[in-house]
Amino acid sequence: MIFRQLFERESSTYTYLIACEETREAALIDTVKEDVPKYLQLLKELNLKLVYVLDTHTHADHVTGAGDLRDATGCVTLLGEKSNSACVSQPLQDDDEVNIGSLTLKALFTPGHTDDSYSFLLDHQGQTYVFTGDTLLIRGTGRTDFQNGSATDQYHSLFDKLLHLPEDTIVYPAHDYKGWTLSTIAEEAAHNPRLQVRDIQAYVELMNNLKLPNPKMMDVTVPANQACGQPQPNNRANSGQGFQG
Ligand code: FE
Repeated sequence: MIFRQLFERESSTYTYLIACEETREAALIDTVKEDVPKYLQLLKELNLKLVYVLDTHTHADHVTGAGDLRDATGCVTLLGEKSNSACVSQPLQDDDEVNIGSLTLKALFTPGHTDDSYSFLLDHQGQTYVFTGDTLLIRGTGRTDFQNGSATDQYHSLFDKLLHLPEDTIVYPAHDYKGWTLSTIAEEAAHNPRLQVRDIQAYVELMNNLKLPNPKMMDVTVPANQACGQPQPNNRANSGQGFQG
C-alpha cells in the first residue's frame, strides 16, 4: 500500500492518498480545491492513476477538489447518498465497498456532524484504519449544529459504530487544529473529552451548548460543494472563525 497524509493549512484539512502498489490505482479522501495541482503532481511523480475521489461529507469549511480532479483525470467521485449533490458520479450507501486495486475501502454511515457523513474503513495486512471525517476528531468530535447535523445521530455513530472497531484501529480524521496526526480507537475512548459522557442526553447537552461561530465562507463553500467544487453565484461569505469541521 502507498499511503500519504497531506495537510491544507487554511482549513486544517487532512487529505489522504491511498494506492495499490501493484495496479498503481489510487484514491483521495477529502480533497481541497486549492491543492488540486499538488495532488496531480504527486500522482504523476508516484506513477499513480487516480480512480476515486471520496468526500466523507459535504464540507462547510473548504471547497472540495472532487470536480476539478474528475475533470483532470476522469476519476469517479463519491459522496454519501443523503448529500444534496446532483453532480457526484456515485452516491455512497452504508456497507458499500470501493476497490482500489487490491485494497478495499468500506463505507460506514456515521451521520451526526452532517446527515451525509461517512467513515471509511480499510484493512491492510492485519491493521485496521478508519478515516472518520469530522465524526470523530482527535480529542474532539465534529460540530452538529448545522447541515442537518444531529447530536443524537452522532452519539449513535460514535458509541454504536466507531467505538466498536478493534481498539488498535488507527484513526485518521479530516481535520486537526493542533497538529495531531493520528490516533487509535482505544486512545480516543480513554482520552477524548467528548466521549466521557454518562449517556446520550449528556452528549446532546454537551453538543448543543458549544456556541461555535459558523465557519468563514460557509455560505459559499456548501453550495460550491453541492456542485462538486464549482463556485455558485449569488452567495455571500459570512464571517467568523471556522473550526470543528
Ligand atoms: Fe465538516
